[in-house]
Amino acid sequence: MSLLAREPGMAEKMAAWGAEWLPAEPLSRHTSLGVGGPADMVRLRDLRRLPELIADLRCRGVNWRLLGGGTNLLVADEGLNVVVLHLVREPDGLKFDGPRVEVPTAANLGTTVMECAKRYLGGMEGLIGVPGTVGGALTMNAGAYGTQIGDVVRAVSVLRGSSGGVEVLRMEDVRFQYRHSSFAADDILLSVSLELPERPYAEILEKIKQCNQKRRASQPINEKSAGCIFKNPPGHSTGKMIDELGLKGTRVGGAVVSERHGNFIVNRQGATASDIFKLMDLIRDRVRGAYGVELEEEVIVWRD
Ligand SMILES: Cc1cc2nc3c(=O)[nH]c(=O)nc-3n(C[C@H](O)[C@H](O)[C@H](O)COP(=O)(O)OP(=O)(O)OC[C@H]3O[C@@H](n4cnc5c(N)ncnc54)[C@H](O)[C@@H]3O)c2cc1C
Repeated sequence: MSLLAREPGMAEKMAAWGAEWLPAEPLSRHTSLGVGGPADMVRLRDLRRLPELIADLRCRGVNWRLLGGGTNLLVADEGLNVVVLHLVREPDGLKFDGPRVEVPTAANLGTTVMECAKRYLGGMEGLIGVPGTVGGALTMNAGAYGTQIGDVVRAVSVLRGSSGGVEVLRMEDVRFQYRHSSFAADDILLSVSLELPERPYAEILEKIKQCNQKRRASQPINEKSAGCIFKNPPGHSTGKMIDELGLKGTRVGGAVVSERHGNFIVNRQGATASDIFKLMDLIRDRVRGAYGVELEEEVIVWRD
C-alpha cells in the first residue's frame, strides 16, 4: 500500500511542485545490487520546491530518505515505510570558475571527473569508475587509489533536515573520514564547490586510464554489486581476509562472494536482500573467529 496515497491532498501538491510520484515503487529497480522492496518514490526536478516539499512531509510526520545513484545501498526485501526522494539531474549543471567548479549533487561523479579533466582540472582521477552521484560520493566520502572526494571540497550547500533552511557549509564545518562524513542523516546536499589543481590534460587522462585498468582487473564491474560491502578495519584488508579464509565463491541463494574481489557480494540469479544479509553474517562470523576483528558495513542498509 502506498504511504502517500493515504495523505489527503498529496496528489495535487505533487502536481503543483512538478514532482513525479511513483507509489510503491520497487527499489530493486534503483539500486546497483538489484534488490529492495517497494517504497513511495518522489522525483523532483525543480530544487526550489524542495524546502516546501520537505516542510510538508515533516508536517505530516512522513519520514524520507534521499536516493542518489543507489550504488551503495542494500534495501530490505520488505521495502520501506518512508518516502524515497530522488533529485533529478540538471543537464547543464557544472559551473567553472578558474580552479573552482560548482557541481549539483545529482550530477554523475564520473561525468564530473571527465568534465573537469577537459578544463585541465585534476585531483579526482582516482574517483573515475566510482559509480553514482556527487551527492552520494560526498556523503560516503567516496575514495579510491589515493583520492577521496573530501580532499577537494571547499563548500557544500545543504538543506538542513532539522530546520528546513538552506546553509552553505565551509570546508572547516565538515569532517570527512574514511567512508564517512559529518553531515546529519537528514541533511540534503544540494551542490558542492570543489577546488582542483590545474594539470596537463594528457597527464590527467593517463592517470584516469591507469585507474580504470586497475579497477577492471580487480573488481567485478560487470556484475550487480554495491562495491565493497565492509570497510577495511584499521591495519587489515577485508578483501584479503575473506580471500585467505577461502570464502570467494561462497553462495547463499543468489548472493555470491565475488571470485574477483572478496569484499564484493554480487547478485547472481535473482538474489534477495535476505540472501545478502545472510552471506554478510557468515562472512562477519568467519572473520571474527579467525582474526578477532569486527567488520563494519560500508554499504548503507535501508530497512524500517
Ligand atoms: C562497482 C562498484 C564500485 C565501487 N567502487 C567504489 C570505490 O572505489 N570507492 C568508494 O568509495 N565507493 C565505491 N562504490 C560505492 C558507491 O559507488 C559510492 O559510495 C558512491 O559514492 C555512492 O553514490 P550514490 O549516488 O550511488 O549514493 P547512494 O547509494 O544512492 O546513497 C548512498 C548514501 O548517500 C546518501 N545521499 C545520496 N545523495 C545524497 C544527497 N544529495 N544528499 C544527502 N544524502 C545523499 C544516501 O541517502 C545514502 O545514505 C562502488 C560501487 C560499485 C557498484
